[in-house]
Amino acid sequence: MSLVMSEEAVPPGITESYSGSDEPLDLVGVGFGPSNLGLAIAIEEYNATRPRRPVRAEFVEVKKQFGWHTGMLLPGTTMQISFLKDLATQRNARSRYSFVNYLAERDRLIDFINHQTFFPTRLEFHDYLSWAAESVSARVRYGTEAVASATSAAGSRSTAGASTARA
Ligand SMILES: Cc1cc2nc3c(=O)[nH]c(=O)nc-3n(C[C@H](O)[C@H](O)[C@H](O)COP(=O)(O)OP(=O)(O)OC[C@H]3O[C@@H](n4cnc5c(N)ncnc54)[C@H](O)[C@@H]3O)c2cc1C
Repeated sequence: MSLVMSEEAVPPGITESYSGSDEPLDLVGVGFGPSNLGLAIAIEEYNATRPRRPVRAEFVEVKKQFGWHTGMLLPGTTMQISFLKDLATQRNARSRYSFVNYLAERDRLIDFINHQTFFPTRLEFHDYLSWAAESVSARVRYGTEAVASATSAAGSRSTAGASTARA
C-alpha cells in the first residue's frame, strides 16, 4: 500500500500529508501500542533478511511517548498471560526482543526465574515494552493523531493516516 497522498485526496480539515515527504511507504500504523510495536519488530527482523527491498513503515502515536495503559500500572498487579506471550517469541523464538532477553539486559533474569512465576508484574511488563519501543528501529511520530483515512484520486492506491500534530 502506498501512502503518498495527493493534494486532491486530502479531505477537508486535514492539514498535513501523512509521511511528510515524497517517500512512498508500504505501511502506516495508527497507534504505537503493543500490537504495532510487535509489528515494528517483525518488520525490523524481516528487513534484516531483505536489505535490498526493505518494508518501509511509519507509525503515528497520539501520546508523546510510549506508554501501555499507564493509568493502570498498580503496584502488585500482574499480567494475565505468560511472559512467553511477549512481543516476539511466538514468531521468532530467537528474537532479541524477547522478554527473556529484556530480563538478561536488565540483569533481572535470575531474580525472575527464582520468582517461579509465568506472570510478570504489569510494571515490569511496561518496562519491557518501553525498552523494546526504545530499541526498535521504527519510525514513530509521537504526539501525532491520525484523524482520517482516504483513498487516493488515482483509485488504485489507497492512502491512509492523514494526521495533524497535536504537540
Ligand atoms: C488494565 C489492563 C490490563 C490488561 N492486561 C492484559 C494482559 O495481562 N495480557 C494481555 O494480553 N492483554 C492485556 N490487556 C489488553 C490490552 O488491551 C493489550 O494487551 C494491548 O494493550 C493491546 O495493544 P494494542 O496495541 O492493540 O492497543 P493499545 O494498547 O490500546 O494501543 C493503541 C495505541 O494507539 C494509540 N492511538 C489510538 N488511536 C490513535 C489515533 N487515532 N492516532 C494515533 N494514535 C492512536 C493509543 O494512544 C495507544 O497507544 C490489558 C488491558 C488493560 C486496560
